[in-house]
Amino acid sequence: MAWTRLLVAALGIGLLAGCSTSSTPASPAVNASRPAAMASDAVHVTGEGIPVAVEPAPLAPAPETVVTAGVVPVEPAPVQVVAPSAIAAAALALSQTPGPPVIVLDPGHGGAEVGAANHGIVEKESNLDLAFRVEALLREAGVRVLLTREDDSRAVPPPGLRPVPGGSTRPARVDVQARVDLANLAGAAAFVSIHSNGHSDSSLRGIETYYSSVHAEAPRSLALATHLQTTALGELAAAGFPAVDRGARDTQCMYNRSGTCRGIFVISPPRVTRLEDVLQRGGDPVRAGLAPGETEASTRATLMPAALIELLFVSNPQDAAILAVEESRQAMARGVAAGILAFLAEEGLWPAQ
Ligand SMILES: [Zn+2]
Repeated sequence: MAWTRLLVAALGIGLLAGCSTSSTPASPAVNASRPAAMASDAVHVTGEGIPVAVEPAPLAPAPETVVTAGVVPVEPAPVQVVAPSAIAAAALALSQTPGPPVIVLDPGHGGAEVGAANHGIVEKESNLDLAFRVEALLREAGVRVLLTREDDSRAVPPPGLRPVPGGSTRPARVDVQARVDLANLAGAAAFVSIHSNGHSDSSLRGIETYYSSVHAEAPRSLALATHLQTTALGELAAAGFPAVDRGARDTQCMYNRSGTCRGIFVISPPRVTRLEDVLQRGGDPVRAGLAPGETEASTRATLMPAALIELLFVSNPQDAAILAVEESRQAMARGVAAGILAFLAEEGLWPAQ
């Protein structure tokens, strides 16, 4: 999760260890371009793989930290006013058309945001491939799906919304706000962000799913996260790839900035930028996103239950081996899709009546 990297860099915390992103060709099982037939309801690829036995590892309390090597990308500011993207148009169309529930899948990272990368797995590519697989399975089940990105790029904000505070200097924040805004625009029943973990401690491995206990939809977000966690592990194990269960986890206080708890942006409540705080730290209120005379500005949160699943650790050799195999990737996709369907069933939204 590259916003982790950005935040850590901003705080000057020395959490990160080297984890090369260079010359790590993606696994052949990772296909980060959408299958041509998948514009409709086609099923994604199948193939052969070799099951990898995994011994349980001790659960470590440390939350995931990105291990992407290199410096924080600096891009020209601001990227806020955009033409309507195809995804934004699709989101709007979904919300305006009656039909089965809409699920927003959020393939983590993209473009300059590589995410974690190691052992031949590049997270942004792996996330997108997994999202395409989940998308196909959900469509087969009769659920409507929107992806926040469909290629190797950042998410594009839908037009007409106020720029996110702080976005003029932080492209990554524009990106994550766009993902949330697209989900809200689509009127989604659930938002599911798909990632894999990376950590400087290569012994860490397994699957964990985040929710926020302080989100407006906290209880349902927890239910969603719990389903995802259970079904992802279950499908992997059934396919012969047992993985470590790191549980459904609260992101509420994952990062602590000067005593202020922060969670993963896309699944957390709005963040408020206050004029007094900006002035206190010697910042520029306009650059922080405050209009003249304004005393505070806020980011936007998802209006629906939201969870973020971390499908194994690319920084762990055993986990990375599982991520490289076609059969286990498809099993994880089945698990994510099954978790979403279980959540929708609990909500009385699926199967459609
Ligand atoms: Zn990530």
